[in-house]
Amino acid sequence: MNLTKKSKKFFEEAQLHLVGGVNSPVRAFKNVDGNPIFFSRGKGAYLFDVDGNRFIDLVSSWGPLILGHLNLSVVNKIKKTLRQGITFGAPSVLEIELAKEIKKSFKSIEKIRFVNSGTEATLSAIRLARAYTHKKRIIKFDGCYHGHSDSLLIAAGSGPATLGLPDSPGVPPEIASLTTSIGFNDFEAVKKTFETMNDIAAVIVEPIPGNMGVVIPHPAFLKSLREITSQYQALLIFDEVMTGFRVSMGGAQEIYEIQPDLTTLGKIIGGGFPVGAYGGKSEIMDLVAPVGNVYQAGTLSGNPIAMAAGLATLKELKNKNVHSYLNKHLTIFDNKVQESIKKTKINAVFQRSGSMATLFFNSNPVLNYEDAKHSNLTQFKKFFYKMLERGIYLPPSQFEAWFFSFALTEKQMSKIAKAIDEVLITMRDE
Ligand SMILES: *Cc1c(COP(=O)(O)O)cnc(C)c1O
Repeated sequence: MNLTKKSKKFFEEAQLHLVGGVNSPVRAFKNVDGNPIFFSRGKGAYLFDVDGNRFIDLVSSWGPLILGHLNLSVVNKIKKTLRQGITFGAPSVLEIELAKEIKKSFKSIEKIRFVNSGTEATLSAIRLARAYTHKKRIIKFDGCYHGHSDSLLIAAGSGPATLGLPDSPGVPPEIASLTTSIGFNDFEAVKKTFETMNDIAAVIVEPIPGNMGVVIPHPAFLKSLREITSQYQALLIFDEVMTGFRVSMGGAQEIYEIQPDLTTLGKIIGGGFPVGAYGGKSEIMDLVAPVGNVYQAGTLSGNPIAMAAGLATLKELKNKNVHSYLNKHLTIFDNKVQESIKKTKINAVFQRSGSMATLFFNSNPVLNYEDAKHSNLTQFKKFFYKMLERGIYLPPSQFEAWFFSFALTEKQMSKIAKAIDEVLITMRDE
C-alpha cells in the first residue's frame, strides 16, 4: 500500500495556503505524528484516497455519516431538493418536516431552532440558559467538548487543559472564570460546586462523552445532575450533537430516561451537511427572537439542502431499523475485541455505546478525562498505523470515538475485528 505519496504532496501545498494545511485541527494527524491522508471519494463503508488506496471508514466524517457514504435515499432526496433551488433565506416546508421528525424521537423537545454547526447550537443554548435563569455561571465536565465558543473552551478535551484557565489564547480569563469544569462521573464535586457557588445558570454535559474517547456515564450521575439542577433552578443541557440519533433514535436521554431542559443536536441531523439545532420546552425556547428577545440568527440556517439530507437520514434510520442492526452486529464485534484483549493481555479497554466506541490503551476502565489522559499514546500510535496498513481508517487520536456505519456489512465488521486481533498480537510480540 502506497500510503503517502500524493497525500504528502497535497499536504505540503495545503500548508502554504491553509493554516496547518487543514480546516479543523484533529485532521492534521498531530496526535499520531504523521501526514493526513487526502481523500477523493467515498462509497458505502469505503473511503478512497488520492493515491488510489481503499479504506474501511470508521471516522464517518466524525459521526454524521451513520448511513455511510452516498446512501441512495439521502442522495436522491438531495438531488430532488436541489432542483428547486439552493437557499431562499425564507421559510421552507422542509424545516417543519425535520423539526417534526426530531420531536418524534426527542420527547424533551417542544420547539427547535436550527443553526449551522454544533458550536452554534451550544453557544446559543448557553445564552438562552443565562437569559432564562438570569444567572451567569456554567458548569461543564473535563474532557467534554461542546464546540469552540469562548465559554465552553475550558478543559475541552485533548487540548492543553489547565485548571481554571481557558484552553486557548484569545479567550479572556474573565469569561473563562464563569465556567467551572469538573471531573466527569464525579457527582460529589458537582454538589460541592452548587453548595459553594451562586449564580449557576446551567450544567452542560455530553451525556455519553465521545470527545475524550467514549466514556460511559454512571446512570446515577446523570440522574443526580437532573435532580440538582432542578433543585437549584439551573438548566440541564444535554449536548447530544454526537449521541443524538447515534446511540439510539432518541439519543442518550432516551437510553437513560432523563429529560434535560435543553438539548443540542448536530452531526447526524444534517446528514453530512453543516447543521446544528437546539431545542427544549416552549416556555424556554420562546425566549429566543423573534418571539422573545434573546437574539440569535443565521443567513443559511434551515438551508433546504441540509434539511433534506437530515430528513432523509432520519427516515432511513427508522425505515431500515439501523440501530437494531448496528447494536446486534456491534455486540458480536465487541465480544471479539474483548476476547483479543484478554488473549493478548495487552493493556487496553474497549468502551462502546451503540455504534460509537474507543479502544483505550489503558489498564483500567476510563471513567473520566483524568483516566483517559493516562492512556499509552505510543501504543495508540502504533495501533493506528498498523490498522491503516490493513486498510482501516480510524480517527487519528486516542481521544476520539470510532463511528460505525450502517453501510458496513457483516463481513467488513469481521474484517475489522480480525485486523484488531492481528495488530494486538503483533504489538504483544514486539
Ligand atoms: C462535534 C461536537 C460539537 C461541535 O459541533 P461542530 O459542528 O463541530 O461545531 C459540539 N458538541 C459535541 C458533543 C460534539 O461532538
